[in-house]
Amino acid sequence: MIDDLLQFLDNSPSPWHAVESTIERLDGFECLHEADPWNDLPPNGYVVRDGAIIAWRSPGGDIAPSSPFRLAGAHTDSPVLRVKPHPDSDALGWRQLGVEVYGGILNNTWLDRDLGIAGRVIGSDGTSTLVNVANPIARVPQLAVHLDREVNSKGLTLDAQQHLKPIWGVGISSSGEFASWIGSQAGLNGPAAWWELCLYDVQRASIMGADQSLIASGRLDNLLSCWAATRSLVEARPPAHTALIVFNDHEEVGSSSTTGAAGPFLEQVLSRLVAARGGTSEDFHRALAASSCISADNAHAVHPNYPERHDPDHRPIVNAGPALKVNANQRYATSADTAAEFQRACEAAGVPWQVFVSRNNMPCGSTIGPLTATRLGIATADVGVPQLSMHSARELCGVDDPVHLSNALTSFLTG
Ligand code: ZN
Repeated sequence: MIDDLLQFLDNSPSPWHAVESTIERLDGFECLHEADPWNDLPPNGYVVRDGAIIAWRSPGGDIAPSSPFRLAGAHTDSPVLRVKPHPDSDALGWRQLGVEVYGGILNNTWLDRDLGIAGRVIGSDGTSTLVNVANPIARVPQLAVHLDREVNSKGLTLDAQQHLKPIWGVGISSSGEFASWIGSQAGLNGPAAWWELCLYDVQRASIMGADQSLIASGRLDNLLSCWAATRSLVEARPPAHTALIVFNDHEEVGSSSTTGAAGPFLEQVLSRLVAARGGTSEDFHRALAASSCISADNAHAVHPNYPERHDPDHRPIVNAGPALKVNANQRYATSADTAAEFQRACEAAGVPWQVFVSRNNMPCGSTIGPLTATRLGIATADVGVPQLSMHSARELCGVDDPVHLSNALTSFLTG
């Protein structure tokens, strides 16, 4: 089963690939398009909007239009380097690529890695093609210690504009060179007109530790949760409600977009599902009032070298189950009610669980949970698998926790 997670991680180097990897696992789910009329609603279906996807499973037969939803949410994007629109440049005999920092990367983790490139390219006729060049084509080389004598005593300082620019060959570059190269990699007849492309570490996801207890990979935050929720939806058997997964894009950059959790995607799909069953706006609001959501996004496991960065009574450890994330200031949406509901789901599935709370003197991150709760008024719990090295190009988590999370979500989605 964990092999399937490793494959999901390796095959999803961009949000659009994560959506494809999700669809591959939705056996028996029918694709609906937003621009089509939704009349004969299939019991199991999905709809894609760029780097976001929503899929649902309902009991089939006649389901009351006001019947509630049980949702599991996650996000498809990860902090990376993205290729700029005019990337061709060279300096002092090196060909370089102009990149833009996407989200809160740990700058130093991008140094000296063999980088591939993946995402989508748009041809001159407007067609969109997924591309994944999985062999190393670029690298951000670190300055030698001989030329930076204080790097180990004073720390590494990187300017995001100047020091994160990868090399991808030698010589002189010409304008349009990258567009032609990526166009041919994508199988286009000519140069790519536009693109959204991520550089990524080509080292494959792997099980590690002498006891095989850990997983090392890029993008564990938050493809791990996408994988777990997808598996849960496939296995869930909702008796009288609709189980649904929603994977948003752009969480790492604030979620305000057509595909982000602050955008309209989920609300539009939910209202259309109710309408397709013959429901009124009254039915829609009744359905939302009785619905609940688990927002799954990784949590910080306690770091053995920095124990002072964690609250001593709320610091999750790996392989001890998903953590309920609590924040009284509503950076997480978890309430006492929704926490108790997730606890019951875990206990029904025989899954251990933990609690994460930030220190009062440390800023707390956030997730799509509070956005879903705020936009739709759906009762939400934030949960996540504990991990180290969050937002590193290569993250680390326990080998047992992804299955723990998936089993808990299956129990929750089944109800
Ligand atoms: Zn995340």
